[in-house]
Amino acid sequence: MLDKKMPAYKKKERIPQDTPAKYKDEFPFLKEVDSFALCNVQLQLEKAFKDHFRNRKQFKLSKFKKKRDKQSYTTNNTHNSIRIDFEKSLLYLPKIREGVKIELHRTFDGKIKSVTVSRTNDGKYYASILVETENPRNKVVEPKSKACGIDLGLGHFATITNDFGSYKVEHPKYLRRVEERLRRHQRSLSRKQKGSKNSEKAKLRLARQHAYISNARNDFLHKLSKAIIDENQVVVVEDINVKGLLESRLAKSIADSGWSKFLTYLKYKAEWYGRILIQVDRFFPSSKLCHRCGYKNDDLALHDRTWCCPKCGETHDRDVNASINLYFVGLGRPEFTPVEQALVDDRSPHGLPKKPSCDETGSSTTKG
Ligand SMILES: [Zn+2]
Repeated sequence: MLDKKMPAYKKKERIPQDTPAKYKDEFPFLKEVDSFALCNVQLQLEKAFKDHFRNRKQFKLSKFKKKRDKQSYTTNNTHNSIRIDFEKSLLYLPKIREGVKIELHRTFDGKIKSVTVSRTNDGKYYASILVETENPRNKVVEPKSKACGIDLGLGHFATITNDFGSYKVEHPKYLRRVEERLRRHQRSLSRKQKGSKNSEKAKLRLARQHAYISNARNDFLHKLSKAIIDENQVVVVEDINVKGLLESRLAKSIADSGWSKFLTYLKYKAEWYGRILIQVDRFFPSSKLCHRCGYKNDDLALHDRTWCCPKCGETHDRDVNASINLYFVGLGRPEFTPVEQALVDDRSPHGLPKKPSCDETGSSTTKG
């Protein structure tokens, strides 16, 4: 269908809209799958073109799929054509009468709308099942802490301050170990002759390691973000894009996917559980402000892991100090509505005892 559309697109003519049925004679294998599977592909393709004409920059033109990439198909439920036998762990799909043995990770109630079956490039099959249910909310627990500030870092994954104090979250050790194994597999693959059987085997081994890493990392990020959302009413994070630019490039690439995913998870979980997520403005100097007196240390360099405040004499761990400042933002602004981006200005954080401040921003100073 894409092949039919492209010449018209290039000549700026009207784009033809075919139905999959037209191709069944020429490609008999299309008759083996159910018609919803084909239909969904057509719908996706039409949508891709529509999106592209609406916004060419954001939506690139569809491309032909490579066979070795992740593959998937979506099919819809009509007249109970999709069913699950929870006891026997069988998934019934259209055209598969005897059912497919599955490993269920949880049961559910509700009406099955559609199923997407995908094959990852490490050779595993997954089925995601879309279900209509009356109460999709998970159980919400009462937050123990009013607010928390999260400083993301490279040495530690995160430094967190909440009502009960500050703590550091390490990068999981198993991830480090697996990353080492990954590099070994990569080297091994590079030594194999391209296209050979051994190279194919090495590729699969590498794909399995990649899948393992991404599963393990997601597991870590989901559990951590869930724990934070459960525990706190207001969660404050910094602008990670800026942070990433500041840190070294290699280190960034390692941490990068983790940080943005972590933020995405925090965002949607905050929404689900009625918590407030504040992402402070990129100009908020979370590392440079002394959390005790509000002094702004403009000389703070990237490699300074600790610093001593010349104003009040307090010695700061860089990450702990930053997370405390973010925590104060959360404490001081409980009236924030749950938005993704909240502007926070350069003044001293609220809600802390302040001595007269000497910073040049002219912030209001009150004796606490
Ligand atoms: Zn100070």
